[in-house]
Amino acid sequence: MTRITLAAAFVFAAWGAQAQGVDRLYVIDCGWAHALDQSRWSPGVNVGVPIDISDNCYLLHHSTGGYLLWDTGITDKVASMPEGMTNGATGMTWHRSKTLVAALAEIGVKPADVRYVAVSHFHPDHTGNVDEFPDATVLIQKAEWDFAFAQPQKPFSADHKAMKLEGDKDVFGDGSAVILSTPGHTPGHQSLLVHLPKTGYVVLSGDAAHFQSNWDNRRVPGFNFSKEETLASMQRIADIMAEKHAQLWINHDKPSSDARRHEPQDYE
Ligand SMILES: [Zn+2]
Repeated sequence: MTRITLAAAFVFAAWGAQAQGVDRLYVIDCGWAHALDQSRWSPGVNVGVPIDISDNCYLLHHSTGGYLLWDTGITDKVASMPEGMTNGATGMTWHRSKTLVAALAEIGVKPADVRYVAVSHFHPDHTGNVDEFPDATVLIQKAEWDFAFAQPQKPFSADHKAMKLEGDKDVFGDGSAVILSTPGHTPGHQSLLVHLPKTGYVVLSGDAAHFQSNWDNRRVPGFNFSKEETLASMQRIADIMAEKHAQLWINHDKPSSDARRHEPQDYE
């Protein structure tokens, strides 16, 4: 056997022994909300019809790169509010069965173990607990950071270490967790393409679409930053899904969220 084939055999043997790249993904319940009027997200459709929406966080473990948390949900403070937290402006009442920090503890993860906190966008149901991870590096689009911190209400502490991205980012350099620039819902909205050894490719689409029916019918909420960019981003995600044979996990779609395993179970 030549030296090259011997080396190759060794690499393949090591490969077979342990999965490389992102090897586990946990779906974490990061709250849910009752909304009075579904048409907030689907102008002219389902007017006055209430809806319950899910809100998930996703923890990825990389074989050599450590933990990446995708979105942080609504603030953990909601867990101690028996009646939930009502926002009159949006007609939504938020609930949380447990805190994100408690959910992580159930799977043996401390906030200090989380290396990256990546947020799809700056809205409070996605950035509510960024400040629970002071040691982590925040992965966010520069356009999102600039827009968010120009608002009167800051989404989280501006003192965080942050990697301000300008477009896509292959986080671990091996294609197993790739941030995709998908603007439209907000100026610097992003999604995450994950590869898992058994599950295959999954797109965590943030709020590129809120419900399966909105995705299927390409409905765009009236409050989105740009309708044109939202539609272009949906098409971009659809093209990537076709190329990678990827599943789409729509964060706020409660029926599909309920059908998914949540921590302490995982996806491999
Ligand atoms: Zn949201």
